[in-house]
This record gives sequence, structure tokens and C-alpha cells, in this order.
Amino acid sequence: MEVLLAEEYGFCFGVERAVDMVEDALSQGGTIRSLGALIHNSQEMQRLEAKGVTTISEPAEADGDTTAVIRAHGVTPQVQRELEVSAAHVIDATCPFVTRVQHLAERAAAEGRDVIVAGNPDHPEMIGVVGYAPSNTYVVRDASEVAGLPALRRPLVVSQTTIKLQTFQEVAEAVRAKSEAEPQIINTICSATRDRQDAARALSGQVEAFYVIGGRHSSNSVKLLAVCKEQCEKSFLIETADEINPDDLAGVNRVGVTAGASTPNWLIEQVVERLRAIGDAQQQAVS
Ligand code: SF4
Repeated sequence: MEVLLAEEYGFCFGVERAVDMVEDALSQGGTIRSLGALIHNSQEMQRLEAKGVTTISEPAEADGDTTAVIRAHGVTPQVQRELEVSAAHVIDATCPFVTRVQHLAERAAAEGRDVIVAGNPDHPEMIGVVGYAPSNTYVVRDASEVAGLPALRRPLVVSQTTIKLQTFQEVAEAVRAKSEAEPQIINTICSATRDRQDAARALSGQVEAFYVIGGRHSSNSVKLLAVCKEQCEKSFLIETADEINPDDLAGVNRVGVTAGASTPNWLIEQVVERLRAIGDAQQQAVS
């Protein structure tokens, strides 16, 4: 049985960078506390916890011995200041793609302009962005919400990094229709999610079974599964190699593997190894 990996899979740039920064800090010793779960993968969180990384929910929970970590989603400037006061050190692992949105919003607000962000207002990334321009920023889930906004002053339209392109385009069009001045439209969607979906789609037509490795609550992993199922009915979402049922692979010659943006390489390697072992066992059984 051939095991084929999608061309793009696993950790995105921002998550890999955040984990690397935490590993570096661990090698220097001390207490490391992440404000919110560093990564949406329970196996990777357990691995980091075993090395001494704990999670806090408020800046005040950090103390003078703590190195506090701002995760890839970023935080408001206010929360960053609170962390800087309470913790001994702060590691800012905000993904640079998110930092860009924060700075665009901040600059537009300083120019007296309104900022419309296409995204989910409850998402931590959006809460952080709004903190950079609290009186001028409106987060809208979709184009239908634009009509309810007040009159807009020379608007800037940007996006949450992980939303669908179509949603962003529709919001931008709605702002254009509503605003007297031509809005400035900057697409700040990160390509990591789309690249993983495109690669999974390309491979799913060539295999008879497909394994997506990722958390069951990870929305990008669940979306990857849906993409794989479009062309490969036998597609499964698994968190660890133990969940593979060899019976599902009876008669399968080619199996595809991909992983969500929060899935570490060591989990992917374990799955590939198990699939190869199952393939070898099936080969021996028929020969
Ligand atoms: S999905 Fe994109 S924006 Fe979000 S952390 Fe990963 S690389 Fe950064």
C-alpha cells in the first residue's frame, strides 16, 4: 500500500513559529505560561505541558517569575501591557500576518478613518485587532451586516486571516455600495488554510482512502475532511495513529494523508508509520 502525503499539510507558519519560540524559551529554563491555549491540538499541548508549559486565562495570573506567551492570534495592546506589568518576560508569538492587520487598523484609525473587518467578532484574533482601533473598527460576519453600520468615514476594509475569500469580497462590495468615498480594500487572508485544502483536493482524487490528522474541534481539520470526502468517500478524521482501523484499508492500494494547521509533525509521522506497517502486514497476508 502506497502512503501519499498532500503537498501542503500540518503546522502553518504562524503556529510553527509560536511553538519554536516556546521551545527556545524552555531551553533557557524558567516558568512558561501561555495566555490561552498555545495551539488547538490536545496531544501537542500535553507534550508542552509535560515540559512545563502551562496555560493562564488572565494576564494577572502571570507573576514575577513567569515568562508569558502571547499566542499566534495576538491580543489587544491593553492586554499586552498588562502582561508586561505582571510577567517577568513576554514572548510575543503573534503571527506576523495578524500583526499586519492590527497595524493597518491602527494606522487607519489614527487617520480618522473607519475600519471594517470581515470576520467573527468573537474570535480572539478579532478581539485583538479591535483593541488597536476600538472606536473606529467594525467586525462584520458577512455582507448583510454592513447595512446596519453607521455612515463610514473613508473606510478601510480588511479581513480576519482565516475567512473565506468570497465572504471578504462580498463585504468589500457592500462597503463600496454604502460608502460615499471609495474604500481602501486590502485582502489580509492568509493562504495557509486554502493551500492545505487545495492540496488535499488534488490528492483525494488519486487515493482510495484518506486520513486527515487533527483535533475534532479544529475547524480547519473538519473542513479538510469535508474537502477529502468530495472525491474520496473513505475519508477519516483522526487525532492519533491508534484510531486507524486496519479493516478500513482492506483492498486499498493508495492512501492519502494530510493534517490541520495545528497538527505537529511527530503525530503525522506516527500515522504514516502505522499506515506503512498495516500495508506491510496486508502484503504479507496475501503472499
Ligand atoms: S493560519 Fe495564517 S495567519 Fe493564522 S497563524 Fe497560521 S500562518 Fe498565521
